[in-house]
Amino acid sequence: MSKRRVVLLPGDGIGPEVVDAARRVVDATGLDIEWVPMEIGAIAFEKYGDTLPADVLEEIRRCGVALKGPTTTPSGTGHQSANVRLRKELGLFANVRPVKSVPGLETPYGHTDLVIVRENTEDLYAGLENEIAPGVITSIKVITEVASRRIAKFAFEYAIRWHRKRVTAVHKANIMKKADGLFLECARQESLPYHERVKFDDILVDALAMKLVTRPSQFDVLLLENLYGDIVSDLAAGLIGGLGLAPGANFGPGCAVFEAIHGSAPDIAGKGIANPIAMILSAAMMCHHMGDAESYTRIRRSVRAITTANRDALTPDLGGKGTSRSLADAIVHEVERRRRAPVDGE
Ligand code: NAD
Repeated sequence: MSKRRVVLLPGDGIGPEVVDAARRVVDATGLDIEWVPMEIGAIAFEKYGDTLPADVLEEIRRCGVALKGPTTTPSGTGHQSANVRLRKELGLFANVRPVKSVPGLETPYGHTDLVIVRENTEDLYAGLENEIAPGVITSIKVITEVASRRIAKFAFEYAIRWHRKRVTAVHKANIMKKADGLFLECARQESLPYHERVKFDDILVDALAMKLVTRPSQFDVLLLENLYGDIVSDLAAGLIGGLGLAPGANFGPGCAVFEAIHGSAPDIAGKGIANPIAMILSAAMMCHHMGDAESYTRIRRSVRAITTANRDALTPDLGGKGTSRSLADAIVHEVERRRRAPVDGE
């Protein structure tokens, strides 16, 4: 495989620690990558007065792929989210977040193996907020047929590509009859050409929340609007042991940006204890996207080998005594070991 250029966006908070771990793991696979490090978020804002400088967008468009750490967005005031801008500017309309139980890390919720497919460009994230009178704010939820059909089609195509059996549309169409009603109707329409290969059903988002924590194994692919997708992602990550384990990717025409579900975790930033697994698994998804299924499988198996056999190496969020660095080292060594002596499918 020829050398690929990949934009590396460490972000801030725990971003630089976990992105560095993921980069080392990808390098250990032997994939020939030229990393192009660039700055976004609060760091870029301080230096250039912009959370998402134009040259970063250009470089991602040129390379087609980026590996991204989280960035901090102040609540209530301050700069606009670099993440939301990045997704909008690059047309990254589909956010895919596989949430799968990790062997060796049992939780009270039982087996989980679901995929969140989240619409990434509209809904309440359109940022259309107005003070219409003193003390009265409106925040506009935008749902369009074009975007709803596009994400629904993506979910069915994804289900087929990854041998998934069912897509469940998540909504609150009993209350938001027009907005969520449209989203649901678009999902229904888009399900029709796939009905022989992928089942389709739907659920109210509140009912989903309860059913996820009682029996998550009953769900397969979940199709959600932007805000529900964000909230359900964190909930689902909790089912498998926490935000440190759940990877993700954003896809659009011509570009893909790989990033974990978690944020910049200011409470543990700089302490060296952030769990790098979510970011490492996001990087594995990136390898698959770039056509290297072998490295994808090898990274995933290496993570599994460490979580099952080397519990002490894990970070404190998983009950271990390790650091971000020592856990990354263990995974890097395992990837290198498997590269020297490949197992089936690697
Ligand atoms: P968060 O995901 O950063 O943290 C929530 C909790 O999970 C914290 O207790 C944190 O310590 C823990 N946690 C998260 N990732 C972890 C990891 N890898 N290892 C161990 N523990 C981990 O959510 P938050 O605190 O609500 O948000 C912090 C900042 O991150 C905010 O500014 C928010 O806007 C931003 N954010 C960014 C992104 C992104 O860049 N894609 C996503 C979500 C939140």
